[in-house]
Amino acid sequence: MKKHLLSIIAMLIICVCMTLLVGCECDHVWETATCTTPATCKKCGKTEGGLGEHNIKNGVCLICGKQFINFFAIYEGCGCSSIWAEVGEDYLSIDTNPYDFSDETLSMLWAEDALAAIKKINSELGLPSYLYQEMVNTRAIDGRLTYTGPERGVNVSWRFHPDSGLEVRYTK
Ligand SMILES: [Zn+2]
Ligand SMILES: [Zn+2]
Repeated sequence: MKKHLLSIIAMLIICVCMTLLVGCECDHVWETATCTTPATCKKCGKTEGGLGEHNIKNGVCLICGKQFINFFAIYEGCGCSSIWAEVGEDYLSIDTNPYDFSDETLSMLWAEDALAAIKKINSELGLPSYLYQEMVNTRAIDGRLTYTGPERGVNVSWRFHPDSGLEVRYTK
């Protein structure tokens, strides 16, 4: 009886040793860490280290979907002016006729610069190129129009009135 117990213990010890040995023997094949998973061995599933970098494209991480739109950087990069543009943490708005001049000459004072900025911002945000055409073709009776692209992480709304110009607002 005692001998039997000893052999069971011996078997157990051998088992534990084998398991440990096999564990040590895995020739790890590391899969690169991403923003959602640390470096993981393809063979044994062991993980190592922290999370990796986000894969950001057009302000959105392709892996986890987190938004990285920096409106302040876009404001600077697209040559915005405080006269016709307004920026905050979660919005950027452009107004082609900021003082709502009804006089035609005055109303066009900043339109060219503001329209050029809208075009740049659209492309910076990865919005479709047709959107700019839709914006400039908007009529007063269309009211406020919106665009929400799939996975772009940005919402756009705009309206046009001959007396107040084209007003475009980008929000997160
Ligand atoms: Zn492994
Ligand atoms: Zn990510």
